[in-house]
Amino acid sequence: MNVVERHAIPGGRARKLEEQGFVFDMGPSWYWMPDVFERYFSNFGKTASSFYRLRRLDPSYRMYWKDDHWDIPADYEALKTMLEGVEKGSGKKLDGYLAQAAYKYKVGMGRLVQKPGQSWSEFLDWDLIKGLLKLEVFTSMQRHVARFFTHEKIRQLLEFPVLFLGALPRDTPALYSLMNYADIRGGTWYPENGMYSVVDGMFSVAKELGVQFHFRQNATAISTENKRATGVTTEQVENGRLSVQHYDADVVIASADYHFVETHLLPPALRSYTDAYWEKKVMAPGCLLFYVGLNKKLKHILHHSLFFDVDFDRHGAEIYTTKTWPKDPLFYVCTTSATDANAAPEGGENLFFLIPVAAGLSGDTEALRQAYFLQIVTRFEQRIGETIRDHIVLMKTFGPQDFVNEYNAFKGNAYGLANTLFQTAILKPSCRSKKIRNLFYTGQLTVPGPGVPPSLISGEVVAREVIKQFGT
Ligand SMILES: Cc1cc2nc3c(=O)[nH]c(=O)nc-3n(C[C@H](O)[C@H](O)[C@H](O)COP(=O)(O)OP(=O)(O)OC[C@H]3O[C@@H](n4cnc5c(N)ncnc54)[C@H](O)[C@@H]3O)c2cc1C
Repeated sequence: MNVVERHAIPGGRARKLEEQGFVFDMGPSWYWMPDVFERYFSNFGKTASSFYRLRRLDPSYRMYWKDDHWDIPADYEALKTMLEGVEKGSGKKLDGYLAQAAYKYKVGMGRLVQKPGQSWSEFLDWDLIKGLLKLEVFTSMQRHVARFFTHEKIRQLLEFPVLFLGALPRDTPALYSLMNYADIRGGTWYPENGMYSVVDGMFSVAKELGVQFHFRQNATAISTENKRATGVTTEQVENGRLSVQHYDADVVIASADYHFVETHLLPPALRSYTDAYWEKKVMAPGCLLFYVGLNKKLKHILHHSLFFDVDFDRHGAEIYTTKTWPKDPLFYVCTTSATDANAAPEGGENLFFLIPVAAGLSGDTEALRQAYFLQIVTRFEQRIGETIRDHIVLMKTFGPQDFVNEYNAFKGNAYGLANTLFQTAILKPSCRSKKIRNLFYTGQLTVPGPGVPPSLISGEVVAREVIKQFGT
């Protein structure tokens, strides 16, 4: 099997960025679902622990509010006690809430995500039909959370994970409270040496199985004959010289951005979807990222911190309703060097700032990015009670335009297609081309959806489809 990758190293959005001794995960994985990775490795008779060690973070993360902050304890009973302190009875209610979320996780991650989404008949499964009400696909996350809790901060704690799924809590099916189960019951984990150690593990398994990787090549065309894909053409620039390669193929699986593959690698007559179809799609947010290296250690920082110290609803509306650059954004900071000594030079700290923004925004300039950085760094310094501005020795920005340039991402999306009800399962772009029978798609724009675990499952789903249709 040939795998064409346009980056020098494998890993897509999970790739590693290294400079001056600072190591960043391009997209840090917070939501783990370790069972998904374990199952992946077990397909090949391996265990995840032969490639990387997971460490559970405690506290799991810190939430900054306008007036105070909460450290979310890894221990479930401690979390219940903490919530009980702000809303009487909420500890017990959390049991009930998470029991429902556990069911959704079991059915959602165990069964729904495994469907290739080729026909409604895949869902004619008595257990699924029976459980439909319990899965709450027709209730919103906002209503669901409000049924259990009244305190604003508890509600936000449970609602924020879906902000990254591509819709406001009021527009996201309550099915996705399964993410609360993954977060609170599953726990927050860090793979030692970062996300990239997972990529390394997958890479070595693939090599052992005889997969051939071709890096730094841009796939530029899928060749076809009588509506069958016959191969892939790539281009590579090395030492200023362009070379063109062609790989013959019995089956092509495209894992780059779906929209890009359709519109740049295929002629119009062989595309499954029209431009109008893509324009109507709701995209998950893009993001503005800042990779910052400091020459000092911070005293008051955790591995993961969320700055929800401004208006949650306003920023949500700017991402999903008005689709404008945010005035006063919420942001997230990841400091893997708080846990991992190898992530920064001795005495230093690596900080990764993320501002979620609407997909498809224009005007992503370096000046705008710097203005945002100034805004959030001021809040960051005030809230942690330490200055960092004079200690920055490395600073790189990465914005929506970079997602277009580096990943060919449709509308500069960072997390793919939004998980709305009308973009679920069979309503997503199909994992099999409608025009070319041996062309398949995987990744965050097709089933089951965005995120590292779902994208990994997407590959498994497609592999099964290919084997079913074309044998081993
Ligand atoms: C900042 C950030 C933080 C994130 N945090 C989390 C998290 O905590 N938890 C989580 O689960 N998910 C997280 N995600 C989302 C997750 O990273 C993605 O959903 C997932 O990586 C998507 O996988 P994919 O294979 O579809 O796409 P990608 O990872 O983008 O892989 C597609 C690959 O195709 C390559 N490619 C594109 N065009 C071509 C071409 N013409 N020729 C050859 N190759 C090409 C790209 O270079 C890329 O390597 C995060 C994402 C970002 C950006």
